[in-house]
Amino acid sequence: MTDPSAVVTRFAPSPTGDLHIGGARTALFNLLFARHTGGRFLIRVEDTDRERSTASAVQAIFKGLDWLGIAADAEPVFQHTRANRHREAVADLLALGRAYRDFTTADELEAERVEARAEGRVVRSAWRDRDADQADGRLFVVRFKGPHEGETLVDDLVKGPVRFQNKELDDLVLLRTDGTPTYNLAVVVDDHDMGVTHVIRGDDHLNNAARQSLIYQALDWTVPRFAHIPLIHGPDGAKLSKRHGAQAVGEFAGMGYLPEAMRNYLARLGWGHGDSEIFTDEQAAEWFDIADVVKAPARLDWAKLNHVNQQYIRNADDARLTAIVTEVHRGRGVALHDAALPRLAAATPLVKEAAHTTLELADLTLFVLLTRPLTLDDKTLKRLDPETLGRLGRLAATLAPVKDWAPPSLEAAIRAFAEAEGVGVGRFGAALRGVLSGGTPAPDLASALTALGREESLGRIHDALSPAA
Ligand code: GLU
Repeated sequence: MTDPSAVVTRFAPSPTGDLHIGGARTALFNLLFARHTGGRFLIRVEDTDRERSTASAVQAIFKGLDWLGIAADAEPVFQHTRANRHREAVADLLALGRAYRDFTTADELEAERVEARAEGRVVRSAWRDRDADQADGRLFVVRFKGPHEGETLVDDLVKGPVRFQNKELDDLVLLRTDGTPTYNLAVVVDDHDMGVTHVIRGDDHLNNAARQSLIYQALDWTVPRFAHIPLIHGPDGAKLSKRHGAQAVGEFAGMGYLPEAMRNYLARLGWGHGDSEIFTDEQAAEWFDIADVVKAPARLDWAKLNHVNQQYIRNADDARLTAIVTEVHRGRGVALHDAALPRLAAATPLVKEAAHTTLELADLTLFVLLTRPLTLDDKTLKRLDPETLGRLGRLAATLAPVKDWAPPSLEAAIRAFAEAEGVGVGRFGAALRGVLSGGTPAPDLASALTALGREESLGRIHDALSPAA
């Protein structure tokens, strides 16, 4: 038995496009609040508008949620399948006298609109107080018979108490002339039937909360708690839009962010736990309370996101990172020869500390994938004067017999070599790096040598000593 007092939250996306980070954060807050309270988290696809909803958007939304690791505790509900139930609720409202049939024609409605605008009031229907049970073949909509006096209080968990004057609310259409339910009606009926106790969503829906509260009351249903969270803004404080760069969750995935880093970062957009910057999913669930969400819009901060992602990359499993980075290289069309995988596996842990994204991790590991002989960049070529070439030759001879081909022994060997030569490592370090990497980014010398392995490292040095004619 489920506890009747238990919290039920839901994420209710309209499938008209990609899952954006604003929606993803709404989903995450709903999930965290459910976890925090020991409740349940549900998903409802609001596809009642058949013209604007697309199957590809449904797929994109679930793909985004899957990637982020956000899953519902039950099968998703598809709103359009529930149209009969929505009509049933409207029949109840009609029977209760809390809705009415409105036979106003399009021309009459237009005239009323003009008049209402001129008088500075909302549109009113002449059918509200008429008795008209017989349609007689005429087209009609069903409107909600809400109060026109007094006020409706939305006691929002984030915004605090917000009051709406009922005289400013027109009588909402519940069913269109073709019998299809409208959005606000469907939301109320579904939330009620799904047992939703807390509606956590973007604050662009705050006005709907007043209308929806009135429908709940008219149906003698318990009004859920509302929590309207401020939208996410761009770094400049303006509403997030295309010009701020990525918006869709899939774009963030493509930019090399790890899903767990994204979850951590999104959780902190508008919510936080003291100074805690990096936390586990369990900690987030333990700490998250919807009442702690701040009223001001959160700003997307790329530097912070990169920092968080860097921490997660640093702590990520090496085999997993290697697999991700291999895919990035493949996607970029880099040739992956036989030695590529072991070399990527060796290089990844050695360079991952420096990477803010897995794309950067790919940049930092590219050097191991180059094929001999490398095309050296101009800077490196300039460094290869006769003295340096001679020194690199002697260095190769020193390194060849190093027993343990790993950073500590290689580092020691390089230092001992520099001492024996009576120069600092700086005198040949940059040239060696260039010879090993062709000028692409590379880690410190010992790490670069380790990642390449003995044979490849010595081979690259020898190629530089005797360039093909
Ligand atoms: N379907 C709405 C949207 O995607 C959300 C409605 C709600 O959460 O109540 O904006």
